[in-house]
Amino acid sequence: MRQKRAKAYKKLMNLYTLSFGFRQPYQVLIDATFCENGTQQKIEIERMLDIVLQGKGKPMITQCCMVELYKLGPMGQSTVDVAKGFERRKCNHREAIPGEECVLSVVGPTNKHRYVIATQSSELRTKLRDVPAVPVIHVNRSVMVLEPPSHTTLKAKADAEAQSLNPKAPEVASLKSASTQDATPPESKKRKGPKAPNPLSMKKKKPKVIESGTNVERSKKGSDESGDVGAKRTRVDEDGEGGRGVGEIIEGERSGRKRKRRRKGAQAGDDAGEDGGGVEQSPMASVNS
Ligand SMILES: [Zn+2]
Repeated sequence: MRQKRAKAYKKLMNLYTLSFGFRQPYQVLIDATFCENGTQQKIEIERMLDIVLQGKGKPMITQCCMVELYKLGPMGQSTVDVAKGFERRKCNHREAIPGEECVLSVVGPTNKHRYVIATQSSELRTKLRDVPAVPVIHVNRSVMVLEPPSHTTLKAKADAEAQSLNPKAPEVASLKSASTQDATPPESKKRKGPKAPNPLSMKKKKPKVIESGTNVERSKKGSDESGDVGAKRTRVDEDGEGGRGVGEIIEGERSGRKRKRRRKGAQAGDDAGEDGGGVEQSPMASVNS
């Protein structure tokens, strides 16, 4: 399928999903004409439905449509075999009625069970356009096609959106009452608020108090158990001094090692150079001689 068409189908199924509550697996009601045409064209109906719907589809067939297929006789045996793989939809028609009428009765005036209809009957397709939110699939020259949304469907979608934007009087009243109920408790909460101390102001004060205390302690005694922060700071200072000492020692060791390594490297380089010189010299000598 072309990328452009796949995108259009995806968008269309999103419309049915978001506005009319369609859900995967989509229930696809297949009638006798579609099933017959599909098997004649050797279309893998179940696989192609998934591609056209851009999601998982569940093929179904009504009892009346099955009866129609049985009437085809031995010529339609392959079609019957394919249809037997679909889920059977009970339509409660005691005596089989024409498949077209059966599908229309199952869909009803609102398609409340959210069926996708797959049919080759142009008459049925025309009638289904008067029912809101009925995705229709048919086969055109061995290509499965999802029809664009009908005017009825688009109107139903627009109406639903308008209703959500402009709620009716009772809904507005319920919303207002809900909002007033919600509004009262926050006021009482706000009154409760000031009684407790502001945690932000408390946090800012704490470090100032400690700093002033430590300064005083340092000036008076220097070593006091009560000032933990002060003790830590003195430790940090000691560590800093100690750290410098250790660092110097390490640097000294490193420099010593480096010197040793350099010496070793230099020696190795000298040796290699001597060896290389020997190798170079010997061929030159042979050439010269
Ligand atoms: Zn029926």
